[in-house]
Amino acid sequence: MKKLISDHIKALADLMLPRVCIVCGRKLLIYEKHLCLPCCADMPFTHFWERSHNPMADKFNGLLQESPGLVTPEHYAYCCSLFFYDHDAHYRMILYNLKYRGNVEVGEHFGRMLGMRIAESAHFRDVDCVIPVPLHWRRRWKRGYNQAEVIASAMAGALGVTMRTDVLKRRRYTKTQTQLDIEAKSANVSGAFEVCRSDVGNVKHLLIVDDLFTTGSTLMACFAALRKAFPYPVRISVATLGFVGR
Ligand SMILES: [Zn+2]
Repeated sequence: MKKLISDHIKALADLMLPRVCIVCGRKLLIYEKHLCLPCCADMPFTHFWERSHNPMADKFNGLLQESPGLVTPEHYAYCCSLFFYDHDAHYRMILYNLKYRGNVEVGEHFGRMLGMRIAESAHFRDVDCVIPVPLHWRRRWKRGYNQAEVIASAMAGALGVTMRTDVLKRRRYTKTQTQLDIEAKSANVSGAFEVCRSDVGNVKHLLIVDDLFTTGSTLMACFAALRKAFPYPVRISVATLGFVGR
């Protein structure tokens, strides 16, 4: 009965202010959420959570190899993204809605989706602490929220573990990365993060979460800061919603 009433309310709300698919703009049916069924069926999932060696992990571990002191006996870091992010494809609207249109629900929805997938993955299911890439307080204040934290929180919920936002801190304001080339990106974020507390209990597997993986330099800078405070055998892995580089 309660569900019937809530469906009627939803239908009424859809009539007044139609919800549309964020990818193709088609009007959503009552049971569809954020994406219409065809866009959902065509979503370019990476399935990276099923393979320890994948293009994202290869790229990230390549960066690790170039950073002396970070290579440990478990030198292969696990990395996964939910979907391929193509600058020309409409699926980029998922992150655009989250980052620039204040649509936090989209981040929660897809964060939960990725969390549920990695909870089933042999490589990620023992994650016991989720850490979002922090925003500098100025940017967070401007946006009102940290998009990585929205995703990380939903992922932690799906995994049944805690999210910690008090472990990693961005210590300086960095330029927006969008217009920079690979080397400039790396220089821009190198040393930008620090661990401000490491009393997170007996953790074995940390997961750093961000919205998008492009060059990997931001995640690498977070990894480097965390590795100093959480030495081997603590495993540190990486997860994002989008992956650029198909
Ligand atoms: Zn659609």
